[in-house]
Amino acid sequence: MADAGPAPVPGAVLRVTVAVFAPLRQCYDYRWEARAEAAPTPAEGARVWVPFGRSHRVGIVVAVAALETEEAARLKAIDEVLDATPLLDAAMLTLARWSSGYYQHPLGDVLASLLPTRLRRREGLPDISQERWRLAPAGAAALPTLKANARRQRAVLELLAAGDADSARMATLDFAWREVVRRLVARGEVEHYRGEAAPAPREAPAVGVALNDEQQTAVDAVTASFDRFQPFVLDGVTGSGKTEVYLEAIARCLARGQRALVLVPEIALTQQLVARFRARFGERVGLLHSGLGERQRLLTWDACRRGRVGVLIGTRSAVWVGLPGLGLVVVDEEHDGSYKQQDGFRYSARDVAIVRAQQAGIPVVLGSATPSLETLANLARGRYQRLALTQRALAQAVPAIECIDVRGLKLAGGLGETLLRAMREHLARGEQVVLFLNRRGYAPLLICRSCGEPRRCDRCDAYLVYHKGADSARCHHCDKLWPMRRPAHCCELPDIAPIGLGTERLEETVSAEFPDHRVCRMDRDTVRSERALGAMLEDIAAGRVDILIGTQMVAKGFDFAAVTLVGIVDADSRLYALDFRAEERLAQLLVQVAGRAGRAARPGRVLIQTHQPHHPVLRRVIDEGYAAYAAVALEERRAAELPPFAAMAIVRAESPQATRPLEFLGELRQRLRALDPAADVSYPIPALMERRAGRYRALVVIRAATRAAIGRLLGAHLDDFDTLAREQRVRYAIDIDPQDTL
Ligand code: ADP
Ligand code: ZN
Repeated sequence: MADAGPAPVPGAVLRVTVAVFAPLRQCYDYRWEARAEAAPTPAEGARVWVPFGRSHRVGIVVAVAALETEEAARLKAIDEVLDATPLLDAAMLTLARWSSGYYQHPLGDVLASLLPTRLRRREGLPDISQERWRLAPAGAAALPTLKANARRQRAVLELLAAGDADSARMATLDFAWREVVRRLVARGEVEHYRGEAAPAPREAPAVGVALNDEQQTAVDAVTASFDRFQPFVLDGVTGSGKTEVYLEAIARCLARGQRALVLVPEIALTQQLVARFRARFGERVGLLHSGLGERQRLLTWDACRRGRVGVLIGTRSAVWVGLPGLGLVVVDEEHDGSYKQQDGFRYSARDVAIVRAQQAGIPVVLGSATPSLETLANLARGRYQRLALTQRALAQAVPAIECIDVRGLKLAGGLGETLLRAMREHLARGEQVVLFLNRRGYAPLLICRSCGEPRRCDRCDAYLVYHKGADSARCHHCDKLWPMRRPAHCCELPDIAPIGLGTERLEETVSAEFPDHRVCRMDRDTVRSERALGAMLEDIAAGRVDILIGTQMVAKGFDFAAVTLVGIVDADSRLYALDFRAEERLAQLLVQVAGRAGRAARPGRVLIQTHQPHHPVLRRVIDEGYAAYAAVALEERRAAELPPFAAMAIVRAESPQATRPLEFLGELRQRLRALDPAADVSYPIPALMERRAGRYRALVVIRAATRAAIGRLLGAHLDDFDTLAREQRVRYAIDIDPQDTL
C-alpha cells in the first residue's frame, strides 16, 4: 500500500487535482497548505472534503504538484483530508482512469462507484480494533505456583499462554470468564488492550484432487505465464473440472506469495464455489457480493486492500477491489450477461478484469462451457490462448438433449406426458429432477374473461404478472405491486383469470402430480436472502428435495450429484426474441441447463419441450453442439457487421415527457453526423418497452469498425451533450459494448 510520503515543509503550497464525486467530466484543482500539526497530507488515492459550488463534496485526489504562488490565490482550499493513507493504490487509480475513458463515464462517478457506499460519504473506515487480552510476565510467573483450587484462574492463564485472545476465544471457557479476568488484570497478571485481530494463520492449502492430463496441461500453461499478461480461455464442457483447474492454479499463485481474484456471475453461484475454495484455502478466502450487509462488504473490501485476503471471490463489483500483489485473475462463466452493469456506470466486469490483468502484467483465465462469441473471436485472432477440457471429470459424457415436440399435445399445467413419464422413472430410482422455467410468478398474464382486457402496469408498457402466494399482481419492470383485492375497472362484471405458466404455477402442478415427493422452487421470490439460499442448497445436497423447479438461478454452475433428469419446460418464448444476442443467449442457456444433469456416476437425461422442434438454433445446438452453433453464428455476425466484428455503442435517453428523448437523440445524431458525415448512427428509435416506471425511453445505435473510432466520435462532444441534456431535461447514458440493444 502506498504511504503518504514525507510530510511537506509547513507553509509549502500544493496544487491538488480532485475527481469530485459528481457526474461531471472534469477534475478540479484545489490548494492545500502544509500545516505544522500532524494533519494528513493529500496523497493520490486519498479522499478529501472540498468546497463545490455552494456546498461541499467528497472527492479523490488524482494528482498532486507544487503550486506557483500567483496561482494560489485563485484556487479554493481543501477543507479536510479524510484519509491519512490512500484508500486506492496506484493500480486501482490507473484502472479507474482507463475505465472512465473507455466507457465515457465521468472519473469522479467511476471512483465513487468503486468504493463501498459508506466511503462515498464523509465518513471514515470503521474502527476494526477489538477488545483483546494477553498474558503479562507476572501471569507467566504465577502460573506454576497457582493453588489447586484456582481452577478458573489457571484456565484463563493457560489459554492466554497459548496466545492473545479476543472475546470470542475467551468465550470458549466454560465459566463466567469476565469476572475472573478482571481480577487477573487488577493483579497485573493479564493485560487488557485494544488491537486488530491477528491475521489468519497461513495454513498450507489442503491437497486438491489428482488432476487428469487435460487439467494438468491447463494448470501448467497458466503457471508458465505467471508474471506476464496472457488471457486464457478455459473451454471445458459442463462438469469437466474447470473449478479444479482454478483451485490448483490459485494454489500455485498463493505459494508464490501473490493473491488471486475470482469473479463469478451471481450470488447463487458463490455458495457452492466458496465452500470448495474454503475447503482448500481456509480463512484466506474473502467473499464479496451484493447479498452481504454494508458493514461486512466494507470490512472485506478493507481487508483485501490491506493484503489480508489471499483469494477474493466476488460478483461484478469485486473487479474494483484493491489486492496488492495480485498474481492471477479468474472469470468464471465468462459468457454470462450479468457481468455487465446495466445502469449508472455501465461496464463489463469481464472486460475490466482483462484490462486489469493487462495493466498488472499477469494471466487471466476466462472459463466457460459456452464461451461468448466475443471471446471466440479473440481466440480466432490469436489474442487469447485456448485450454480445452473435453471430458467430464466424473461422469461418462455430457447427456444429449432430446427434443419433445409438444405441438397438439395436451400439457397438464405445462408438462407433457413424455416429460411426466421420465420424471416418474427417475424419481422411482431415487434420483433428483430439475425443471427449468425462466418465468417467475404464477402466470404472466391476467385477463378479464368478460371483456378480454389484460391488466397492465400504469407506469410501464407491460402486463402485470400474477403472484398467487402474495395474492397480488406485479410489474416485473418497475416492481410495483397491485393487491388483487383492488377492483378491476375494465368492464361491468370483471372476471379476472390467470393465463400462462410461471414457476409458482408449475410448482402447484408438480406438487399435485407428485404428492409423495418433495418439491422446491428456486427463484427470486423464494430466495430472498443468502441464508434462504444456503438452506435450500443444503436441502438439495442432502437429498431432502426430489424435484427442483427454478428460473435461470438453477442454470448456473450448480453441481448436484443426484440430479439425473433436467426438463426444460418451455424453450419457445426465447426463440423469437429480437435482440441480436438473443440466439447466443438461448444456445448458452440450453447447454448450461443441460449441464446440470448426470454430473456424477449416474448418467443424465435432458428433455426440452418445444413447439418448434425444427428451429435452426435448437437443431444446431442439439445435433452438433455449441461449438458448431457458435461457428455459424460468428459468420452471421461477420456478414451483418455486428459485434464482435464491429464496435457498438448505444446512447439511451429518457424523460417523463414522451417526445423529449427522441428530440434530444435527433439533435445528438445531427451533431455526430456533422462531425463525421460517414458515421454510422441510427435514427432515434423508441425502446422496445418505450415507457418504463413512468419514463419514456429511446435510443440510437452507433457502429464503427473499431472502438477507438467510437471513442473519438462520442468523446469530442460529450460536454455539449451534457449541456443539451440539461436544457432539454433529458437523462441520457452512453452504453459502450451494450449487452442488449432494445
Ligand atoms: P466445472 O467447474 O467444469 O463444472 P467441476 O470442477 O465442478 O467442473 O467438476 C465437476 C465434478 O468433478 C466436481 O465434483 C469435482 O470435484 C470433480 N472433479 C473435477 N476434476 C476431478 C479430478 N481430476 N478427479 C476427481 N474428481 C474431479
Ligand atoms: Zn411497471
